[in-house]
Amino acid sequence: MPVTMLDGLGFVADPLDRLSYRRDDADEVARLRARDDARAILIARDMPLLLKSGAGLDPMLPMSEIVRLGGARVEALMGVEPGGAPVFAVLLGDEAVEEQSDSSDGFLDRRVLIVPGRDDLKLIDLRSIAAGGLVPPGQASMLGSAKALMHWHARRRFCSNCSALTEVAAAGWRRECPVCKMQHFPRTDPVVIMLAVDGDACLLGRQPRFPKGMYSALAGFVEPGETIEAAVRREILEEAGVACGEVRYFASQPWPFPSSLMVGCFAEAQNRALEVDRVELDDARWFSREETLALLERRHPNGLTAPIQMAIAHHLLKRWATEGASFR
Ligand SMILES: [Zn+2]
Repeated sequence: MPVTMLDGLGFVADPLDRLSYRRDDADEVARLRARDDARAILIARDMPLLLKSGAGLDPMLPMSEIVRLGGARVEALMGVEPGGAPVFAVLLGDEAVEEQSDSSDGFLDRRVLIVPGRDDLKLIDLRSIAAGGLVPPGQASMLGSAKALMHWHARRRFCSNCSALTEVAAAGWRRECPVCKMQHFPRTDPVVIMLAVDGDACLLGRQPRFPKGMYSALAGFVEPGETIEAAVRREILEEAGVACGEVRYFASQPWPFPSSLMVGCFAEAQNRALEVDRVELDDARWFSREETLALLERRHPNGLTAPIQMAIAHHLLKRWATEGASFR
């Protein structure tokens, strides 16, 4: 399914040619880095830095900023833009920024970070950047890729096999252990997110951390040895007590919070009786097609809502409510 059909879905428009086959060529990477048109996406404490530019914000900073901001802990070649300009992701030291306050609530990152002495730079959490359309979709997607990769580097410095400090390799896309020689690769965790449907009704739930009144598609991590279909059926059965038959793939979405791949599916429910897992969910219930449209359009009589356009859950709900899930 072409991504363009899912209007407004976040993080799916990374325009870069990743040049993955060139990452082990250190001379080529150095040549790209030295180019005048090379730009850096800077990440500090999981938050991108944006340069105030007229009335807008530019997340693609000159390479010279890296030294000005205290140097890189890690650099990675993200690729080249369609026009040919190289793009690097850079993890700055934590000391490059200062935390002024933190009112995060487990759903939204509400830390206030600043770069001391640099009023021209702003740190904004990626969810707010994407949800608010603060940069074009292609740039938001590049920020998502960079954030996920740098999140991994920041937390996986030591070898999980022998505990030695590992070294960055392959232009930032691998870490290698100098002691036991083990290679470590950046993680992407597959998560199934699915809408169980039965005739005119779909099953939605509320996690305790969701904003008040928000319902969404059920979701859960795929476990080792599981197919996507099996994970979909297991999660719906465990969380809501509903058995499902056919599972149909819808679309996927990189989700850099911190580094998941959301695999969106529809599942054909075989019963409507619910047995809700109250540890995982505050509530789960069936919604009619009309009610689902009201959630999406923020006109539900009880003030209930669904996720916004940047999230794949929104598109699962919308597709089913307007066109159905088209099983068989
Ligand atoms: Zn090791």
